[in-house]
Amino acid sequence: MKLYKLYQIKNPILNFFYPNRCPSCEKFLSSGETVCEICAEDMLLEQDSYCHQCGKINCFCNYHKLYYDKAVIACHYDKATIPAILKLKLSKNTNFAYFSARILAQRLQSEEYGKLDMIIPVPMHNTKLRERGYNQASLIAKEIANLLDLPCREDILYKNKSVAQHQLNAKQRAENINHFHVRNILIQNKHVLLCDDVLTTGNTLNYCAELLKQVGASRVTIASASTTIAKPKEAILT
Ligand SMILES: [Zn+2]
Ligand SMILES: [Zn+2]
Repeated sequence: MKLYKLYQIKNPILNFFYPNRCPSCEKFLSSGETVCEICAEDMLLEQDSYCHQCGKINCFCNYHKLYYDKAVIACHYDKATIPAILKLKLSKNTNFAYFSARILAQRLQSEEYGKLDMIIPVPMHNTKLRERGYNQASLIAKEIANLLDLPCREDILYKNKSVAQHQLNAKQRAENINHFHVRNILIQNKHVLLCDDVLTTGNTLNYCAELLKQVGASRVTIASASTTIAKPKEAILT
């Protein structure tokens, strides 16, 4: 079966009012499709094309202290994926969240990732959440939770400052992550899947994983809808 047919959403009523389009190339799609066949193939990152420890296409495990144990990635953050993520962030088309979540859920069923206890999205500050109406990491996390029949908890990690990571340079990003906080509930000895839309420097996911470990999580796997090729200066600074 073709990739784009494997990862479908079924929402024919919504599609009647809002024609369904590929979030990357804008081609019209049928109601069940999330991305077109060509873009699906361009976006997909094969399981053997990235490091399953750090989640990067060119592994940076030896250079950084990682607080997460494993990584699962769906797509290459490249020319087909970038417009789809941008539309997801701007609330224009959320198809990419469903597309990537289904790939991640399918990959997480492999034995190498082990049994998960809960899914936690990387949080967004409340002001930004009110402006946009949703957190893109949360949309992806909820869909994975739905597919794998796991709880999705948004009350454990939170953020108290609304500076977007993509607006900052590497040094500022490292400082900005200090605005993430954790509530010490229900996390003891749990295997947590920490979810985000893009893995770039890894600062955010690594810091959130460190916080979860500090309050007793036994294991943290990160799930990112996409990843980049690491540049030397994009070092994890923690
Ligand atoms: Zn397309
Ligand atoms: Zn690695």
